[in-house]
Amino acid sequence: MSQSPNIATRLANIRETLKDGVRLVAVSKYHSIDAITSVYEYSQRIFAESRVQELVQKYEALKDKKDIKWHFIGHLQRNKVKYIAEFIDLIHSVDSIKLLDEIEKQASKYKRIIPVLLELKIAQESTKSGIEPKGLIEIVQYINDNKLKYKHIILRGIMAMGSNTNNTEQIRKEFLEVQNLFNKIRSLNIIDKKEFCELSMGMSSDYLIAMEYGATLVRIGSSIFQDIDHI
Ligand SMILES: *Cc1c(COP(=O)(O)O)cnc(C)c1O
Repeated sequence: MSQSPNIATRLANIRETLKDGVRLVAVSKYHSIDAITSVYEYSQRIFAESRVQELVQKYEALKDKKDIKWHFIGHLQRNKVKYIAEFIDLIHSVDSIKLLDEIEKQASKYKRIIPVLLELKIAQESTKSGIEPKGLIEIVQYINDNKLKYKHIILRGIMAMGSNTNNTEQIRKEFLEVQNLFNKIRSLNIIDKKEFCELSMGMSSDYLIAMEYGATLVRIGSSIFQDIDHI
């Protein structure tokens, strides 16, 4: 199984750089069940996928490993929520009230409470999806005002992706904006601070910076899986 001893080294190296309170989300998209198993064997428990079909296949194949926590980080279509509602541990990429309504509906069917993050649009690229910063507080307020409607959802925080650039000043600027918004929402008393406590920010190339700006979850794919087989 563990055909790549380098995974151990890579995971250890990444873990050493994690600040206190920061959790590693291993982004396993495009990687095989064997590759995920190898990473699991080195005690990684949180894995994330960005496509529903791929996630469901992997969930089914790895069902016996009951302590795996599956996160969803890609664009989520409303008509696909039903496929993951039974087992998903955190959805990072909620970008509309309509999607939230569907998650509520499906979570209620399975009598679960599904934790979610709101995806903030912060990067310069117009392709990146998410909620515009200026609309974020309003949405959090709306969710809080409609708590009775959202009994099967718990709003855990924010997810953001920095621009795909080598310009670290640009990335810092973006991460600072996210951190400021996150802290502002936490200070506004429109939501329970203990509940709204996760900031999912940073990938292989920029997670060290993201941790300087308060990330609590870092989503790392290529730095872990590098040379392991692709699907
Ligand atoms: C693929 C992906 C990651 C991981 O990116 P790496 O550069 O491989 O670390 C993180 N977040 C999201 C939303 C992704 O789609």
